[in-house]
Amino acid sequence: MKVVTTIPSQSLTAEGGKDVNFIILVALAVVGFIVFLIGLFDLLLLIIGLVIIAVAAVYYIVAPKNTFNVGISAIGQNSRISITSSGSKAEGTQSQLIGILRMGGVGAGTGATRVCKNCHAMVTDQSATFCPTCGGKL
Ligand SMILES: [Zn+2]
Repeated sequence: MKVVTTIPSQSLTAEGGKDVNFIILVALAVVGFIVFLIGLFDLLLLIIGLVIIAVAAVYYIVAPKNTFNVGISAIGQNSRISITSSGSKAEGTQSQLIGILRMGGVGAGTGATRVCKNCHAMVTDQSATFCPTCGGKL
């Protein structure tokens, strides 16, 4: 994945390579080439070989690109993080990133800020059981 555009603290778009299953691609190309070689002695096999190579080429051309976008917008005191992605590699990166965000306590899309019942202080730490301002139980 390569970062192609960056708007500081707002948006990040990463674009990876084409989402190609290389096993299918190589298998098609190899089978196509072998049939093509055999086909040097037989016109029908020659055409079939060329068709298989053409299918491999088309498969590579039409394969969707991996795109990955993270948008961060500040709304009041809460930050909203939106993540969109397409392609299998990008989706893998997305779930990794959501995991990192959850570990960091940022929370993807939840934005749960609690208010202390005792002193009405805003508590952003979702794992906290006691208010950091007054020490009361949340
Ligand atoms: Zn409190």
